[in-house]
Amino acid sequence: MLIDGFNRKVDYLRISVTERCNFRCQYCMPEKPFSWVPHENLLSFENLFLFVKASIDEGINKIRLTGGEPLLRKDLHTFIAMIHNYAPDVDLAITTNGYLLRDYALSLKEAGLKRINISLDTLNKETAHYIAQKDVLNNVLDGIEEANRVGLKIKINCVPLKGVNDMEIITLLEYCKRKGYEIRFIEFMENIHANVMKGLDSSEIQKIIASKYTFTKVERKNGSPSQGYILEDGYVFGIIEPHLDSFCNDCNRIRLTAEGYLIPCLYFEDALSIADAIKAKNIQLAVEILKTVLQNKPEKNKWGSDNDSTRAFYQTGG
Ligand code: SAM
Ligand code: SF4
Repeated sequence: MLIDGFNRKVDYLRISVTERCNFRCQYCMPEKPFSWVPHENLLSFENLFLFVKASIDEGINKIRLTGGEPLLRKDLHTFIAMIHNYAPDVDLAITTNGYLLRDYALSLKEAGLKRINISLDTLNKETAHYIAQKDVLNNVLDGIEEANRVGLKIKINCVPLKGVNDMEIITLLEYCKRKGYEIRFIEFMENIHANVMKGLDSSEIQKIIASKYTFTKVERKNGSPSQGYILEDGYVFGIIEPHLDSFCNDCNRIRLTAEGYLIPCLYFEDALSIADAIKAKNIQLAVEILKTVLQNKPEKNKWGSDNDSTRAFYQTGG
């Protein structure tokens, strides 16, 4: 079992398989970074898998592949199949912007994927273009349909932004309710890479939904980043509330970048690399580095203060 320095059990590994992305979301990567990590510096799927196996053996039972845009990484389905075949019971999911999903949903499903989170901030074509700085909505909606058709369980991620898509919160909730997808509203997390924007906090999101629906809080699952709320008809939506002081109390997550940096917290810059250890097939050393990173995992993020994070979401994977 993996335990951090604050006695929190860590059983959830998020792997950013690439920092590259085909969108330029205003809140994440408004401009192409000065330089991408060169391909040769990325850990191969074979090498990533060595670490994945070891971390599963140490107690990881939930894995999310993210990015950047994970579907840009060639043959992602082969990596999914490796993990699924090694440990079919591990809860394996990906987070994607959905743009390429129409083409890849079936191969992901056939590789063993069961769940997928798709980012959908708006149902308005112009607003989607404004946020991603590209005409994306039709592709994303087609991708969602295809994922549903092949039988992937869908969650929708939405970042409500003042004056941009906050007027669509109820429309998006109703779209997801109608389709049978859970929606999770994510508080915008201020970071120096994002364009200046103002997100809605959880109480503002709740107030908008309360203008039409009655709902109550659901008891939060241990370690879940999302607080659930249940409408009178039984539909559950979630809000991810990183600005709340208690948000990190039961954090169970550790992140790995495409280059092999283990990042203990989404907010902070700290990281240690397992790349050399993995490339040398020294898995024991990689596990020791993992345990050191966990010992140094900070107690809390600082989104409740006035500081912006310096971490780029497209590198850590959100
Ligand atoms: N490209 C994929 C996507 O957009 O779903 C996966 C990577 S993206 C970094 C993962 C999640 O982080 C997305 O749901 C995105 O909306 C969210 N995200 C990115 N920047 C954010 C920010 N500044 N605050 C809150 N959520 C953010
Ligand atoms: Fe790309 Fe996802 Fe970041 Fe948007 S949120 S720029 S889709 S990594």
